[in-house]
Amino acid sequence: MDRERAIKAVEEFLKSFGEDITREGLVDTPRRVADAFAELLSGNGKNAEEYLSKTFESAGRELIIEKDIGFSSTCEHHLMPFFGTMAIAYIPDKRVVGISKLARTVEVFSKRLQIQERLTNQIAEEIMRCLKPIGVMVVCEAEHTCMTCRGVKKPGSKVLTYAVAGDFSKEKRDEVFNLLR
Ligand code: ZN
Repeated sequence: MDRERAIKAVEEFLKSFGEDITREGLVDTPRRVADAFAELLSGNGKNAEEYLSKTFESAGRELIIEKDIGFSSTCEHHLMPFFGTMAIAYIPDKRVVGISKLARTVEVFSKRLQIQERLTNQIAEEIMRCLKPIGVMVVCEAEHTCMTCRGVKKPGSKVLTYAVAGDFSKEKRDEVFNLLR
């Protein structure tokens, strides 16, 4: 990231709305916005391999679900936040991963410019690639501020997406949806 360039761009952006960027409240705003976005996009170029490779042996082949993993991401169409919860369900194949590592994986992919559908898919695919379970399903429920604060302005409306990878039958999907209900 070119921080100086980002700061200049935010200054120009504010000026294009006729804002006085020398007034007290705005004087540090371009720097703050640049630094905020550096954090919001800190997942760029990262993968979750280092988290998902720390696995433990497990004889079970029953569904494991981690739910209510809070996240926030940035909509690539409006540069506005969308946020909500993820649930990750997988059927292990002899190996399970530490609980916090799934949340870390969500973090890597949400801290980028995203659309919810791709975010959901990328998490499922990365878990499949690194952990190699029998199957994985990711369910994401999110509120998009670009939808609730502008445009159709429907506060509280949520978008639900899910993605599966590997072997995850219709029965298993229904089981997950039932458990999440
Ligand atoms: Zn948007």
